Amino acid sequence: NPFRQAQYLTSAHHLHQLPPDAGFEFAIAGRSNAGKSSALNTLTGQKSLARTSKTPGRTQQIVIFELDISRRIADLPGYGYAKVPVKLKQHWTQVMETYLETRHCLRGVVLVMDIRHPLKPFDEQMLNWSAAAGLPVHVLLTKADKLKRGPAQASLLKVRKALPPGATAQVFSSTSRQGLEEWVETIKPWMDY
Ligand code: GDP
Repeated sequence: NPFRQAQYLTSAHHLHQLPPDAGFEFAIAGRSNAGKSSALNTLTGQKSLARTSKTPGRTQQIVIFELDISRRIADLPGYGYAKVPVKLKQHWTQVMETYLETRHCLRGVVLVMDIRHPLKPFDEQMLNWSAAAGLPVHVLLTKADKLKRGPAQASLLKVRKALPPGATAQVFSSTSRQGLEEWVETIKPWMDY
């Protein structure tokens, strides 16, 4: 799994602070508490790469992890914190939309959702922006260990039916590592591996 090479590179409060727009990048996004940090830690095999306890406000930046000289992971700010002021929310909505629209090296978006609470309004917004930018989206329905197999499959089928063309979905768990190989194999081609 080449994603195990991930190392922290930089954090960007503004798009102009991102590394040069070259090579290959994928973004990972999700509502606060969906399980995004845990998923990233599981993907990279690193227990605390993405901090799993965060304070609202501090999370309002794009964190870049480097895989090698030409490949990166962009950890997009978690959304859904009630405490974040409306103005800051609007600012970040704008930054995310612009990032998805203009970042040429961006090859796809991994959208993390709690399998028990999928497709909330901001998930829909991410799906719409990604579709508008022509980006593939792979949905991770995480915390699958919290459901029995039947309900987990039911949620997967429901989500798949609701996704736009070009978007894919799978069941995942950071706790059990269920679905890790499927995730890795899905995003490898995005990154030219
Ligand atoms: P983030 O805000 O999206 O980065 O979410 P975190 O990764 O910090 O996870 C939020 C909470 O859900 C934490 O208490 C995690 O331990 C828990 N969690 C994350 N992934 C899983 C999972 O796959 N299974 C279970 N049971 N709990 C999880």
